[in-house]
Amino acid sequence: MMEKKGAILILSGPSGCGKSTLLKNVYKDISDYYFSISTTTREPRVGEKEGVDYLFVSKEEFEEDIKNGHFLEWAEVHGNYYGTSLKPINKALKKGKLVIFDIDVQGHEIVRKKLNDIVTSVFITTPTLDELERRLTDRKTDSYAVISKRLENARYEIKSFQKYDYFIVNDDLEKASKELVAIANITRIKAKLYDKDEIISNWLDI
Ligand code: ADP
Ligand code: 5GP
Repeated sequence: MMEKKGAILILSGPSGCGKSTLLKNVYKDISDYYFSISTTTREPRVGEKEGVDYLFVSKEEFEEDIKNGHFLEWAEVHGNYYGTSLKPINKALKKGKLVIFDIDVQGHEIVRKKLNDIVTSVFITTPTLDELERRLTDRKTDSYAVISKRLENARYEIKSFQKYDYFIVNDDLEKASKELVAIANITRIKAKLYDKDEIISNWLDI
C-alpha cells in the first residue's frame, strides 16, 4: 500500500490580522488536518489554554529545547521566543495530515529552506495598518505597549508578503474563509505529487 505523505500549510501575517479567527471558522470545512501547537515564552492571554493555543514555557526551558535540537524552527518575535517542535510535525506528516502552522515571517523562511517541497504558504493581513490597530485595540488582550510593538513589527512583516504562494486580505471574514479553504484544498491536491517513486511503481503495478 502507498505510504501516506502529508503537506504543510503555513499562515503568516501581522498579529491581530485575524489568523486564529479565520482558522476557527474554517476547521469545519477542512478534513484530516493537524494544527501545530507552538511553544512560546510569552504570557498566556486571558482565555488561552495550555496545550490548546500554545505550550507556555519559561525562557530557560525554551533555550534548553533549542540546545537539544527539538525545534523544526524557532524565532524571537515581539521580544518573546516562539517555536515549532519537530516530533509532532513528523508524526502528523507520516499520517498524511495537512499540517497547519501559524508562524511569523522568519519561521516561514526557515521551514521553506528545510521542507520547501511540501510547503504551501499564505500571507494574511488587514486592509490597512489602521484597521490592524483597531482590531488589536478592540481585542482587549494586550497593553498599549504590547500593541505598539506589534504594530511596529507589522510594518516590517508586510514587506515579506511576496515570498508567499498566496495573499488574503481578511476584510470580510466569510470571503477570506472561502479563500483559505480553497488554498487548503489545493495544498492537499498538490501533495499527491510528493511521492514520485511510489506513484510510478503503483501505476506500473510492480
Ligand atoms: P491573530 O490570530 O492574527 O493575532 P485574531 O484572530 O486574534 O488575530 O483576531 C484579532 C481581532 O480581530 C479579534 O478580536 C477578532 O475577533 C477580529 N477579527 C478577525 N477577523 C476579522 C474580520 N474579518 N473583521 C473584523 N474583525 C475581525
Ligand atoms: P501571538 O503572540 O499574537 O500569539 O503571536 C505572535 C506572532 O508569533 C504571530 O505572528 C505568530 O504567527 C507568531 N508565531 C506563533 N507561533 C510561532 C512559532 O512557532 N514560530 C514562529 N516563528 N512564529 C510563531
